[in-house]
Amino acid sequence: MFCKTCGTLLQPRKTEYGKWMSCPQGHSQPEIVTKSEPITSQNKTSQVIGVSDGVNLLAVHDHVCKKCGHDKCELIEVAPFYSDEDAFIRMKCGKCGLAEKLEGRIG
Ligand SMILES: [Zn+2]
Ligand SMILES: [Zn+2]
Repeated sequence: MFCKTCGTLLQPRKTEYGKWMSCPQGHSQPEIVTKSEPITSQNKTSQVIGVSDGVNLLAVHDHVCKKCGHDKCELIEVAPFYSDEDAFIRMKCGKCGLAEKLEGRIG
């Protein structure tokens, strides 16, 4: 492309408004449509790991909660307070969070 006014070869020019061909002599080129580069700034929504739709994804054990009736719970091993005691397992409801002590051992 050449300048409509002086015929000089246009040179690419970068401005804060975008990039386009412009005359080195500063003549304006009315037919050139200014192209501004679209701003691509996307806010990535932070992902909450472990919880989806209010249900704990770690709750995979089959147990019907006696409080809310949810049929999955999370197993949590609780360390004994005294060393001569056995560690026991708690079942935490994946929905309401109600914790129940699991009787017996898990095979
Ligand atoms: Zn010119
Ligand atoms: Zn529950």
